[in-house]
Amino acid sequence: MGLVEIKKQKTYMGRLPHGGDLLEALTQFCVDHGLKCGRIEAIGAVQNACIGYYDQAGQKYQFNTLEGGLEILKLSGNISLKDGNPMVHAHITLADSRGRCFGGHLAPGTRIFACECIIEEFAGPDFNRGDDAQTGLPLWE
Ligand code: ZN
Repeated sequence: MGLVEIKKQKTYMGRLPHGGDLLEALTQFCVDHGLKCGRIEAIGAVQNACIGYYDQAGQKYQFNTLEGGLEILKLSGNISLKDGNPMVHAHITLADSRGRCFGGHLAPGTRIFACECIIEEFAGPDFNRGDDAQTGLPLWE
């Protein structure tokens, strides 16, 4: 699929619950508000993190677990549909106490310390994810 025009609808802004799973909290918000298409950005801090790196040759994710408090310098993601349900795809850049950065594909197991989040809802055609043979990823069809 190529690039298509979408229109901005509502924008939501607020805080996610302390101690919650970051990816789950974002996904649950989308389910609760019927969001099928949109954009997410957030800053804050996590208690620990699990971030993925996609091994292109092996066509599978490897996951890195980071312990201890980390700053969320930037979370950037999108909302689309997979099997008819909202799916959040987000990448995150995190910094440790010395400002050293780590980043990757946000995975379950990333625990919120504090998170300030802005979610934009878009209207337009449905973006459905399906298995892409070339990359092995669930991409927009
Ligand atoms: Zn990703």
